[in-house]
Amino acid sequence: MPIDPTLPYDDQNVFAKILRGELPCNKVYEDEWSLAFHDIAPQAPVHILVIPKGAYVSWDDFSVRASAEEIAGLARAVGHVAREAGLVEPGYRLLVNTGIEGGQEIPHLHFHIFGGRPLGRMIG
Ligand code: IMP
Repeated sequence: MPIDPTLPYDDQNVFAKILRGELPCNKVYEDEWSLAFHDIAPQAPVHILVIPKGAYVSWDDFSVRASAEEIAGLARAVGHVAREAGLVEPGYRLLVNTGIEGGQEIPHLHFHIFGGRPLGRMIG
């Protein structure tokens, strides 16, 4: 069920629990700002999620409240993870579902990285 991004941060969401180590994840990368792990229900041969360590509901929330360091840290992590997954040469797709009409289900900002096959054109 898509979430309302205007609600306060829910620290019981799945990704908050992963960040606290209360739930497992298949980790591919971690640094001061970010954690990346394989999506539990992959939609492509490579489907990795990259999340900020800070408590941000959505891209909208992050774009308003995150520091320049957090924004840079997350952007660098997304690029690093895609490179390390070998996706730069064939290409890949980034997706950030945001809010109800954006189809966001987990109320902690996450970048999807899709790759490993031709992804075609996608609008919605
Ligand atoms: P959203 O629709 O953009 O919010 O995407 C949420 C994503 O999180 C979906 O692709 C889910 O498959 C994924 N997901 C949900 N729970 C877990 C988990 O515990 N580990 C890894 N991925 C998860």
